[in-house]
Amino acid sequence: MERKVTWETYDAAQLEKLEKLNQEYREFLDNGKTERECIDTIVNTIEAEGYQELESLVQEGRKLQKGDKVYSVCMNKSIAMFQIGEKPMTGGMNILGAHIDSPRIDVKQNPLYEEGGFAYLDTHYYGGVKKYQWVALPLALHGVVVKKDGTTIEMSIGENDDDPVFFISDLLVHLAGEQMEKKASKVIEGEALDLIIGSKPIVLSGEEKEKDGNKEKAKEAIKAGILDILKASYDMEEEDFLSAELEIVPAGKTREVGFDRSMILGYGQDDRVCAFTSMRAMLDVGKIEKTLCCILVDKEEIGSVGATGMQSRFFENAVAELMNLTGEYSELNLRRCLARSCMLSSDVSAGFDPAYASCFEKKNSAFVGQGMVFNKFTGSRGKGGSNDANAEYIAYLRRILDEKGIVYQTAELGKVDVGGGGTIAYILAEYGMNVIDSGVPVLNMHAPWEATSKADVYETYRGYIVFAEGAGM
Ligand code: MN
Ligand code: MN
Repeated sequence: MERKVTWETYDAAQLEKLEKLNQEYREFLDNGKTERECIDTIVNTIEAEGYQELESLVQEGRKLQKGDKVYSVCMNKSIAMFQIGEKPMTGGMNILGAHIDSPRIDVKQNPLYEEGGFAYLDTHYYGGVKKYQWVALPLALHGVVVKKDGTTIEMSIGENDDDPVFFISDLLVHLAGEQMEKKASKVIEGEALDLIIGSKPIVLSGEEKEKDGNKEKAKEAIKAGILDILKASYDMEEEDFLSAELEIVPAGKTREVGFDRSMILGYGQDDRVCAFTSMRAMLDVGKIEKTLCCILVDKEEIGSVGATGMQSRFFENAVAELMNLTGEYSELNLRRCLARSCMLSSDVSAGFDPAYASCFEKKNSAFVGQGMVFNKFTGSRGKGGSNDANAEYIAYLRRILDEKGIVYQTAELGKVDVGGGGTIAYILAEYGMNVIDSGVPVLNMHAPWEATSKADVYETYRGYIVFAEGAGM
């Protein structure tokens, strides 16, 4: 089958738009290294474009009509956005969905300790990571500390040029004979992923050492030094780690890649590349028949669980509230709306990597630079755990995308039985709606720095707009 190279389809004006979109995308990635930071960025962006918070409209008992733009946030980690269409919601929506959590390393609840001249934060990694990729590189600390009185301290350390960074050590190669013989999954053990956060003891004079409480400090003087800094900078005590969510992520901004600057290297592109393009498409859409929805959720990387994951009732509740405000709500109408909806479950796909060609089946692989990707199914061991999109739905998508000249490709995640993965697609499919996995090809998926093509980012955004304006099934 013919494959198109996306770059060859653009004129100068489109190339300019492509660069502008990707510049905005890079800022989105730099500003949102955690789910909470992504939500902040998204809410700021969409409020500036006229979106209003659903909960306040509910309280005011306001009625909604076509053209109205509404959003609802769940626990600062997930968001659902809606633009009311021309037709009743009971006829179904067009839904763009993606996730905003990314693999990383989380700080434990009782994390602070001192050992061998260093102060450490103990950690537990989040999502599927090759642990050996996370050592010996500059890391940043992002997140919140919520104190008992309810005040929230926001932390972001390691991103500005004059910020300190943190790191996880690795064994020097000179002594690594035994380590290098180990399986890659064992080279760096999960419990060895502890973050070095300091090495300077507090210095107490002879007199000070005798004071109450200072004997303890002198015993673990480096840890005491860190606690003094945390108290002075953030007014936090060691116990406040108990109610903190601190995420360790690669430090630094996204970069352009190549002499031709054709790609983007950045942290968290799984799946913020689809989150950003979905949100941007929703804001840039033209006239829409069907109500348009964009859901950007948390916890996909650990199974879509919890109140902020896709399996939560949050999304369904938001749709019910919305239908109530359009005057359409009934249990039956809600179910009809969901069952008659069409969804693009957007997540990154594995880009073909020539260095590891044997893991891919070339005819059914996503190539970087060849446009938006559709995965009819995902899963592993015989499509296990997968949503398998209907042929009729794919035919509909082919029709509307071809009409507008969108460059797209179809793919599977690697060769049969080499591995696999899942997305949020199967969860929405449970309502009986048409769902397909789509998104952007990525190289080095789940590594600290992931790579995408600017052309694929732009083409996927264009594809989402076509889908959003579509008549649906
Ligand atoms: Mn993903
Ligand atoms: Mn992932």
